Amino acid sequence: MITDSDANWFTEIYSQGGCAYSLQIREKLHEEQSPYQRIEIYATTHFGNLMVIDGCYMLTTRDNFLYHEMMSHPALFTHPNPRRVAIIGGGDCGTLREVLKHPSVEHALQVDIDERVTRLAEQYFPELCESNGDPRAELYFGDGIQWMKDAEPGSVDVIIVDSTDPVGPAEGLFTEAFFRDCHRALGEQGVMVQQSESPLLHYESIIQPLHRAMRAAGFADSVTLPFPQPCYPSGWWSATMAGKGGDVLSFRVTDAGQKTFATRYYNAAIHQGALAQPEFFQG
Ligand code: SAM
Repeated sequence: MITDSDANWFTEIYSQGGCAYSLQIREKLHEEQSPYQRIEIYATTHFGNLMVIDGCYMLTTRDNFLYHEMMSHPALFTHPNPRRVAIIGGGDCGTLREVLKHPSVEHALQVDIDERVTRLAEQYFPELCESNGDPRAELYFGDGIQWMKDAEPGSVDVIIVDSTDPVGPAEGLFTEAFFRDCHRALGEQGVMVQQSESPLLHYESIIQPLHRAMRAAGFADSVTLPFPQPCYPSGWWSATMAGKGGDVLSFRVTDAGQKTFATRYYNAAIHQGALAQPEFFQG
């Protein structure tokens, strides 16, 4: 029972999991229907700005660092020398900013289907877009599924799939056919990572099938890294990483330990810890 009648709240009801999460809202800043999805922006009382797509939390100023750092740094420190990175989705540019912190990266391409997400991020989350002018960054607006089909074989070192939930335009990003295209686009030691929803709510329905599809697509190894993410259903989220050349359990520990850039969550020990698998992940 909510008794705080003086306050406005945004609530995402996740009815399949019988749970909901609310943030207190100061004001609605923007709302539009893009050609692909309904985008809303709110100012919250304690979490900074909030972006919502089709009724689901995408990010808040306060807690997006957890997700963006865990979607980028583990994969980049797993690859021996990541030079060419493709981000599929990720229109808020937070993942792109993290990727560009790696000095080895020569080119980082973000492929989001919806340019409006990026334009609104530039306005309401300018700190996430601060590296968009980096000469190594390229923003392309189009369907990531088609882009991957057309990608030159062996042309990418790391693929990061920073997508919305597996419905609507993102549904095809969770399929074996898409992973086959990723596998072909990656170089010999290529690594891909996919946002893979909640370990608590989606282990059987999404995470396990994702591993099967990645292996069936030709990836030699895969692992799911759980991490906290307060604004997503259950507050516990995950990134599933797959390696073309094998072993995604080892990473460049020394480089991660001596990283040349600032992070707020990620470090070598967090990476190592996220590789420890909960008992219910077995089998
Ligand atoms: N990680 C966040 C989450 O799980 O809530 C999502 C952040 S990011 C804003 C997700 C992006 O994926 C959106 O900007 C959306 O436009 C993009 N997207 C969805 N389907 C896509 C596709 N087929 N190709 C490229 N981008 C896509």
